[in-house]
Amino acid sequence: METKEMICILCPLGCKMQVKEKQEKPGELSVRGQQCKLGVDYAYDEYRNPNRTVTSTVVIHNAPLARLPVKTDKPIPKELIFPAIEEIRKVEVNGPVQIGAVIIKNLLGTESNLIATRSL
Ligand code: SF4
Repeated sequence: METKEMICILCPLGCKMQVKEKQEKPGELSVRGQQCKLGVDYAYDEYRNPNRTVTSTVVIHNAPLARLPVKTDKPIPKELIFPAIEEIRKVEVNGPVQIGAVIIKNLLGTESNLIATRSL
């Protein structure tokens, strides 16, 4: 099994970890380089189901700024980030918009909503 290099992003220390699936116990990982147990949990999540929160902006009309900052309210699978950005690019909204307003519901069927991160 190949060793994957990962950087834990759960705190500013950013431990550089080496992660490898155990040959004798498939599904179990050998994790090295972490400075606390959270790194092990992070390695399992990243190995099995890598997710990311997407942040971006959309065009807004009738508002003091031209773009409204948005983000997903839950992380989405890493492989859907670029398709999600394509969807987000198509969106235009009209002001006023309140912080937390849902801009795209259930983005790409991920059960994550795209929400406004400020009022505008
Ligand atoms: S392993 Fe622990 S100490 Fe290292 S970056 Fe992750 S949370 Fe921080």
